[in-house]
Amino acid sequence: MIKITRGTKDILEDEIPTWQWILDSAKNVFTKSNYVEIKTPIFEATELFQRGVGDSTDIVNKEMYTFCVGGADKTATSITLRPENTAGVVRAYIEHNLNRQSPPQKFWYFGPMFRYERPQAGRQRQFHQVGVEVFGCYEPIADAEVISCAVNFLKTLGLDDLTLELNSLGCKNCKNDYRESLKKALKPYLDDLCDDCKMRYEKNPLRILDCKNEDCQKIFMKPDIKDVIYNDYICDDCKSHFSELLGYLDELNIKYKINKLLVRGLDYYTRTVFEIKSESLGAQSALCGGGRYDGLVEMLGGAPTGAIGFAMGVERLYNLVKKIEKEKLDYFIVSNDPKHALVLANKLRLEGKSAEIDYQNRKFIKQLEKASKCAHRAIILGEDEIKGNFYSVKDLNSGVQEKIEDFRDLI
Ligand code: ATP
Ligand code: MG
Repeated sequence: MIKITRGTKDILEDEIPTWQWILDSAKNVFTKSNYVEIKTPIFEATELFQRGVGDSTDIVNKEMYTFCVGGADKTATSITLRPENTAGVVRAYIEHNLNRQSPPQKFWYFGPMFRYERPQAGRQRQFHQVGVEVFGCYEPIADAEVISCAVNFLKTLGLDDLTLELNSLGCKNCKNDYRESLKKALKPYLDDLCDDCKMRYEKNPLRILDCKNEDCQKIFMKPDIKDVIYNDYICDDCKSHFSELLGYLDELNIKYKINKLLVRGLDYYTRTVFEIKSESLGAQSALCGGGRYDGLVEMLGGAPTGAIGFAMGVERLYNLVKKIEKEKLDYFIVSNDPKHALVLANKLRLEGKSAEIDYQNRKFIKQLEKASKCAHRAIILGEDEIKGNFYSVKDLNSGVQEKIEDFRDLI
């Protein structure tokens, strides 16, 4: 018996209605804000993620499903199952010159992502994300709109007991100053940081603040480090960008908490970063992560383009939302005449009704038992009905049975 691969999950009948509802709600909410759906491949050239997510991230360093196809010689290409979708959407945006439409260009997506992580509650190796990306905008109103889109979607799913955390990382220039100040302040503690952080210190020091290691976190709370973190290091432009965003969020009545330690795992973020968390998710509390990435389009070969987006984990959403029951069928046809039953079911289906039949010619009582489990009504098609050209229709909730002569009364 071959078992499912560790860290992956089958989504079976009982779960499908809730998944479907989550997706329908996403489509509804995003379409109302003028987003269009985009579907990009689940694998891309490895280099896209190395450049687009960043060499110093855990995702690229430890979590990618990478393999070579086309032989082991020089013609082989290295491809990677997408660990996230921003890089793929940016690639498509550049490749199809989607910037030709007047800005902003707004996209939403849904699909599986792949990360080689340690499987645990709320963490799988194949999981799903739903997200949005907006291109062609530097204005803080775009940040506010993207955040409100995430919040509206979560509200539609009945989730409002959530925390929105926000921070501004600054732009290319002030991010550099901050990075240098932080490096200087952390230097005396370098030996006490975990091995990952020692590596981050060289490659991407801001990401040290993202470390979940408790000893590292204690160091961030030392007064001299805290001074640097909580000092308003961002430049005046970035400051007013951030405060305009906060103004919009206040207007929209969206509550937020500023978290200066929030830097997010990916290399490409500039200015606004945000996370939406739910305490009821336990250790894996992050539902949604997002931010502005004004440098990414240019870095991947396009024109300089302001951009912002978010991604949400659908399995984590699933765990929080109310569960939707499977819809019952309109009709179950109870009959010992398979030809008549099949033809009637087919006619009903073509008229837009859902209908099921019995394949095995079982006793009526057995068929009725099955019918009451899966349908609202049973159509009894016995000898009398067939001869007399009528239908006996039983409401399986009330038990009331009626005689129907005209097929049109069934649809
Ligand atoms: P975490 O801190 O939980 O590892 P992350 O920062 O790696 O999250 P992002 O890359 O921002 O996550 O992805 C956005 C969302 O996708 C997360 O907030 C989470 O809901 C979901 N997600 C990320 N990795 C996984 C995973 N391995 N399994 C299930 N959901 C995931
Ligand atoms: Mg992660």
